[in-house]
Amino acid sequence: MLNNYFKNKFPFAFNYFSNLLDLTKEGIRDFPQALIFEGADTKNQYLFALELARILNCQNNGEIDCDCINCRWIKSHSHPCVNNVSQIHFKGENDETKTVISVKQAAEIEKSLSLSSDYHRFFIFFSSREYNYAENELACFRELLYDDNINYSIEPLNYQTFNPATLNALLKSIEEPPKRTTFIFLTKSREDILATIVSRCLVFKLSGEKTSITYNDILNIISNYPNITYQNCFDLSDMFQKYIKDENINIEEILNKILEYLKDLLKKNISNSSFVLKINNDIKIVNEAIKYKKANMQDKIILDTMFLKIARGY
Ligand SMILES: [Zn+2]
Repeated sequence: MLNNYFKNKFPFAFNYFSNLLDLTKEGIRDFPQALIFEGADTKNQYLFALELARILNCQNNGEIDCDCINCRWIKSHSHPCVNNVSQIHFKGENDETKTVISVKQAAEIEKSLSLSSDYHRFFIFFSSREYNYAENELACFRELLYDDNINYSIEPLNYQTFNPATLNALLKSIEEPPKRTTFIFLTKSREDILATIVSRCLVFKLSGEKTSITYNDILNIISNYPNITYQNCFDLSDMFQKYIKDENINIEEILNKILEYLKDLLKKNISNSSFVLKINNDIKIVNEAIKYKKANMQDKIILDTMFLKIARGY
């Protein structure tokens, strides 16, 4: 059912929703009424939301090449009950707001839910503006949709565009929607959404859980080495913390990669005795950091301490 396109992109969510969709289609379980997708790839979060909507509305068994009216509508952005909600989508006639998702839109949604529907209704919330895609950005749309004629950006929600007033106005709709209604919020992180909403949603990290990081990832971040100074050591620590969070990986994996990198560097510079001394010293510091991790110290403290020690040399 779920397009294999998502199998590598979001492996955990792919498995979870594959099972859930089967159970929902068989009438054994209800599909969740509110979901938060978090992670860096908002465009693919959006396509994943559309794919869920397609399968739940398909008149056949949801195969990717199905050509039933619902599949056709969704793949061509014209399904009457699969709604984008953003600063530029789902605006009522008297709504002059252009930079926020407004309280009026929340009221409009509540009104639309008071009417009965034969479809599984979707409201997909994201930030958006008019946007012309470059040719290389369109490939993912062609993979899943009938056309790539999309003239709006797909960006994560934040407090500026999706403020507490609107969220509060939406609470009732999210809490007690009619059956077969699903709200999906596309975010970078659940922290960008009001906690009262988050507590009513199932949260999925759709970041494409990588199992191993590449050498190049580390090289990119640590490109300052050996010039790590008091001025930049905490920035480096912040970048690594962000990387660990975004990629959902364990700090030990990072530390081991740094070790590998340093040992490699050592081999290449074996004739430069002062540099060898420096690298050997830093290898000791990284090994200490690995010990701190085993003692359950917080990532931030481990990384701050490690880069500070590397900067000052002891
Ligand atoms: Zn279909």
